[in-house]
Amino acid sequence: MVLILKVTSTEPRAPLAQLLEVPLGLDIWEVQSDYVVLRGAEAQAERLQRMGYSVEQLHMTETYLSTFATADAAAGYHSAETLEQDMRQLADSQPEVVELHEVGRSLENRPIWALRIGERRGSTRKVCFMGCHHAREWIAVEVPYLLADYLVQNANQNPVAQWLTQGEIWVVPMVNPDGHEFCRRHDRLWRKNRRPNPDGSVGVDPNRNYGYMWGTLNVNTSSHVPSDETYVGPRAFSEPETRAIRDLIARELFRGVITYHSYSQLILYPWGYTRRPIIDPTDRDQMVRLAQRFQELIGAVHDEIYTPQQSSQLYPTAGDTTDWTYGIYGVPSFTIELRPRTQAEGGFILSPDQIQPTWEENQPAALEFIQRVL
Ligand SMILES: [Zn+2]
Repeated sequence: MVLILKVTSTEPRAPLAQLLEVPLGLDIWEVQSDYVVLRGAEAQAERLQRMGYSVEQLHMTETYLSTFATADAAAGYHSAETLEQDMRQLADSQPEVVELHEVGRSLENRPIWALRIGERRGSTRKVCFMGCHHAREWIAVEVPYLLADYLVQNANQNPVAQWLTQGEIWVVPMVNPDGHEFCRRHDRLWRKNRRPNPDGSVGVDPNRNYGYMWGTLNVNTSSHVPSDETYVGPRAFSEPETRAIRDLIARELFRGVITYHSYSQLILYPWGYTRRPIIDPTDRDQMVRLAQRFQELIGAVHDEIYTPQQSSQLYPTAGDTTDWTYGIYGVPSFTIELRPRTQAEGGFILSPDQIQPTWEENQPAALEFIQRVL
């Protein structure tokens, strides 16, 4: 039985922060100053209690799923198939500025699609938006897709027209199509890709499989145990999904990268692998200021707070996308954790009526990033 647990502690021997630092194989969902929400097995819950933590069960997974993951809720979101159809349609609608590219294939041979939006001028000014490294984060498909849709619909009006003249915007809404399909059909809380591991478990965490400081941690949030939710894989870029993104970025040399995830409403910048800040003061200031600007722009739309912070302030992670894009290419790189803010508001399972407002509030920050980076 897998449980969703709210963990608190008043015991000095069991500080909450320590939960993130020890390799217990937990699936950490949410980190607040006074509690942590995670998913774990019954045995893990008992172990935490023996260590001195207070553990409260939030929902039995089944009840949770029947309440939130109905067919109606799924219908509001893209599947891999409907996403391909809609991306194709977008590309067909304005062939002079939009192209559909297959940037790679998943382990189960599903195409990983990207839209290149911009006039064909051989520009070196390029920016990249990605979504859905993690299967269960469905809203992280919709926000980059709606961004692409917006850019195409407004291709003839400034400032979009100007951007498409001077550069290119690449959008990859679903990096992990196998995981996403599995999540739609079998397990709404599936996170990883669908790699069969030698120990009989399935899945590598694609957002721990990038090749900068890969594998340097062995904690709950970046694990070397294949059955764990944050399994880093046998080596950096062992997965076809991350190799597709690696090759795209190596080829296009983007000037900036945003990758969407959910949930928690956060704006994260490197580093994830260390608590130390970025050393280069210019880079650090640029990213901190941009993150603060994003917070203002997002908050001005529907009064939602997205908190800017260094990625490792949430919890340490090694091998994530933005440590790699910044670490190797030195470009501004952000992970944006979308709605909702808490597990109590649905966590990974966001009602489809939230798609539009989540997009609306993220639009000005995405456009600001394009403006600054191009
Ligand atoms: Zn994620």
